Amino acid sequence: MTHIPDMHDAEPIPPEARAEIDRLLRSGDLFRYHAPSDAPVSLLEREFADLLGARYALAVSSCSAALFLALRALDLPRDARVLIPGFTFAAVPSAVVHANCRPVLCEVGADYRIDLSDFAAKLPGAQAVIISHMRGHTSDMDTILELCDARGIPMIEDAAHSLGTTWNGRNIGTLGAIGCFSFQSYKMINSGEGGILVTDDADLVARASIMSGAYEHNWTSHMGLAKACARWQNQLPLYNMRLSNLSAAVIRPQLSQVARRVADGRRNHDHVAARLNASPWFDVPASLPPERRAPDSIQFTLCGMSDEQARLFAQTTSETGIKVQIFGLSRDNARAFWNWQFLDDCPDLPRTRAMLMRACDTRLPARLNPADCDAVADVLLAAAARVTAPHRAYGT
Ligand SMILES: *Cc1c(COP(=O)(O)O)cnc(C)c1O
Repeated sequence: MTHIPDMHDAEPIPPEARAEIDRLLRSGDLFRYHAPSDAPVSLLEREFADLLGARYALAVSSCSAALFLALRALDLPRDARVLIPGFTFAAVPSAVVHANCRPVLCEVGADYRIDLSDFAAKLPGAQAVIISHMRGHTSDMDTILELCDARGIPMIEDAAHSLGTTWNGRNIGTLGAIGCFSFQSYKMINSGEGGILVTDDADLVARASIMSGAYEHNWTSHMGLAKACARWQNQLPLYNMRLSNLSAAVIRPQLSQVARRVADGRRNHDHVAARLNASPWFDVPASLPPERRAPDSIQFTLCGMSDEQARLFAQTTSETGIKVQIFGLSRDNARAFWNWQFLDDCPDLPRTRAMLMRACDTRLPARLNPADCDAVADVLLAAAARVTAPHRAYGT
């Protein structure tokens, strides 16, 4: 029988983290503003900014916090409209609501990318845009940036799942005003929880730093921001969304692993994608030409199946040990826009809905080897053959 790889567990944290964590435990120095300089969180910010090629980085408690602070840093008026894709994680419309703004959802096409005609049609009423690179799929950023720039509308990137992805050779997360990343366990770098934002704009990062909890004059330990922060002294609320030194100690030794994880993840993804695309039951949409992906999961669309066959497909694969979720068919899925019932007015998005009803999601960790990937593809292909076989007796 084929060996089914472990699809769930994360990679171990590099052993270098242990000595640093031990040092922090011995000194009790867990708060980023305890030591006057070179706190692990501050070092992480410098290293992450350098890795991305951005001027500034601000480490915070989650990517959701980074998105919220990014919107607050833009100083949008109450009830400002923020255009977001209809295919994203519930944290994105939630961050908009949290910032006292109103999310406007735009359609996403069968290729998991933003529908540019709907985007262009809805942009005029918006005062900011969040582009969520959902599962690392990159929309046509040239057109999106051109449309936003022409109207002077700031663009925030939700790059939670896009660390290592490039567009025309530029790092995703550095294309707009602010880019936000996640260190939650299912992302490229894992510290359980955590996030970071990057920007080249001193004023934006100064505002975000103060609101993240750099109270009094704690901002003096933020690189080169003394002037920008002094301007906002006592002017902004403190939301206290800081990262702890312990998390930074877990994250920093993983920065040097990103390039390998990206290369291995892409190899695994492309291998499984090629096998699925050779079958009539699957479509793995191609990336756009300027896009170089950094996947740690795979999304594919079921073709020519009924709702019942699609459900059976997900059930069959899960029984074999490969968990597949269909965004629109799994109950209470946080990525299906009709479940965001906390929104005042949630429009219907028929194209996005149709995509979600057949789009499948499976983790594909970078640590899998080619034989593991073949085992995954075998399970998916066998399940599709089984649920589409003519004269198949149900329940046997
Ligand atoms: C994980 C994720 C988030 C939320 O990140 P947290 O750090 O858990 O807040 C937001 N957007 C996308 C696209 C994500 O994948």
